[in-house]
Amino acid sequence: MMPVVALVGRPNVGKSTLFNALTRSRDALVHDQPGVTRDRHYGICRPEGGRAFSVVDTGGIAGDEEGLSGATSRQARQAAAEADLVLFITDAREGASALDAEILAWLRRSARPVLLVVNKSEGLNVQTVLAEFAHFGLADAVAVSSAHRQGIDDLIDEVLERL
Ligand code: GDP
Ligand code: MG
Repeated sequence: MMPVVALVGRPNVGKSTLFNALTRSRDALVHDQPGVTRDRHYGICRPEGGRAFSVVDTGGIAGDEEGLSGATSRQARQAAAEADLVLFITDAREGASALDAEILAWLRRSARPVLLVVNKSEGLNVQTVLAEFAHFGLADAVAVSSAHRQGIDDLIDEVLERL
């Protein structure tokens, strides 16, 4: 069985863009409007010389009044709970938010291995970007720019080390 990697994070951090970068597909619906990707999307990442793994693009954990109990969030949590590795996606431009912290608290309870991915890092200093998220206490973090395909190969290496 192919290992499963789930992309989890609040809306608009770039999960679907990262999904496309990893699977090199247009399967995921990318949109400026937060929360547009409602369904789970599955794709396959086939790294050169590495083990293929399946990638799940979740709809995002919403920050509306339903919070973590909303339907979209429930689906994302389900996908995360079934994954071999969770990529917890955040946004370098917006920094660490309260919703990020809430999602991480839930991820910790789900006891899945988590790798922090700070997206939208193009043109920023990687050390500065990662320092913004240091208080999350996650040992493993990668800065990427999904839209510009920067750091994606390093991210894939980090993923393969954990599968
Ligand atoms: P999702 O809601 O988490 O799936 O986020 P999307 O993939 O739909 O992306 C939300 C917005 O962020 C879109 O306007 C993307 O073009 C933009 N975006 C995604 N990745 C990057 C990135 O690496 N850099 C920048 N600057 N914008 C990005
Ligand atoms: Mg999306």
